Amino acid sequence: MMKIDHLGIAVNSIQTARAFYEALGLTVAQEETVEHEQVRTAMIPVGESRIELLEPTNANSTVGRFLTKRGEGLHHVALHVDDIAATLETLKSNGVRIVSEDVQVGAGGHLYFFVHPSSAGGVLLEICQDQDQERERV
Ligand code: ZN
Repeated sequence: MMKIDHLGIAVNSIQTARAFYEALGLTVAQEETVEHEQVRTAMIPVGESRIELLEPTNANSTVGRFLTKRGEGLHHVALHVDDIAATLETLKSNGVRIVSEDVQVGAGGHLYFFVHPSSAGGVLLEICQDQDQERERV
């Protein structure tokens, strides 16, 4: 079953940005640094989905360059799929432009890859799947 897993929002400071969501009554469930993406993330559950705040740890990272160019705002939309390998193959065979060649592993162990905005109506699209579908994510 496909669903919106999360919305990724680029921010200059998680510390500052989270206050708004906390004022709404939401709670940061998990913070982690994804070293190879040079980004710190904070996950805020919203019903079935989540908001992912993204703060660059390096100004030259993907999110760092996004902030320099466009300022804070919506960075990507993430769709959850049940079979990420099959989804990647299907998209590739349909000529969809993928940002990375292979499926990547995030810090929490989940699997993901990005579809280039030029193939997704101007939106950076993350396709993700839990490493273990049976495990409930925190
Ligand atoms: Zn994401």
